[in-house]
Amino acid sequence: MTSTRLVAEPVISLRGVTAGYRGVPAIENIDLSIAPGEMVGLVGPSGSGKSTMLRALTGTADLYAGEVSLNGVPVRRGHPTRAIGFVPQLTSIEPDLPLRAADAVLQGLAATSRRVPWYSKAERAKAHALLERLGLAGYERTPIGQLSGGQQQRLLLARAMISDTNLVMLDEPTSGVDLQTLQDILGLLADLRAQGTTILLTTHDLNWVAAGLPRIVCINRRIAADGPPRAVLTPDILEATYGARVRIVRDGDRILVTDHRTVPA
Ligand code: ADP
Repeated sequence: MTSTRLVAEPVISLRGVTAGYRGVPAIENIDLSIAPGEMVGLVGPSGSGKSTMLRALTGTADLYAGEVSLNGVPVRRGHPTRAIGFVPQLTSIEPDLPLRAADAVLQGLAATSRRVPWYSKAERAKAHALLERLGLAGYERTPIGQLSGGQQQRLLLARAMISDTNLVMLDEPTSGVDLQTLQDILGLLADLRAQGTTILLTTHDLNWVAAGLPRIVCINRRIAADGPPRAVLTPDILEATYGARVRIVRDGDRILVTDHRTVPA
């Protein structure tokens, strides 16, 4: 008897991907498959290709080899897919842009709404509900430049969530925010994931962010390791990726990556 096993199609699939800019590869031979509802952190030193990997997925980097697909649909350069909610780095917010918070959230509908910029009542109500859910009730008419860094980060998340995507990708969502905001953001992402959304984020933060995720992909142009924190956050893997020796401290389930020199034996 043959058994048929239903395997969910990956939300994200990269096969043999080499990608970069103007003929120069920044990531090489990447194989990565992310299933629906996974929450994955992409870690690696500065310049290791984390943002490029996200750009390969959004169709904004040059693809030199391999295949990239989202929800089974091939991604082509210059043809941004509608399937993603993308949260750019906070530094990409132009503080002087005369844009109110609610309108910034509605911009997340630009790829799918027929009404841009005349949004429907239902779309406006949705933006309002998202702002409320992300702790920004009452800020609808506030110019985005007047929001704090943590508020701007939550605003970018609302903007990514408004199009009911099954995939949210975030580029360094926790850098430059305080600890409370960081925990708020991780809590919101966990809620989203509990509703079935697939989440891929890049992070510099091995301790507060990466160590708490179910799966980490460590890259330095190529994938150096892929697995749960206890398998990936090891001195050898981190030395191979970051070029520095670190010490790993375990306290039950908690993993702490620390400077090798500062912790007494
Ligand atoms: P990370 O996000 O890990 O810091 P990036 O993906 O931004 O790394 O960068 C990987 C490499 O690609 C770096 O060498 C960087 O200089 C180069 N790079 C990034 N963006 C561009 C770009 N727009 N044009 C040319 N080179 C770029």
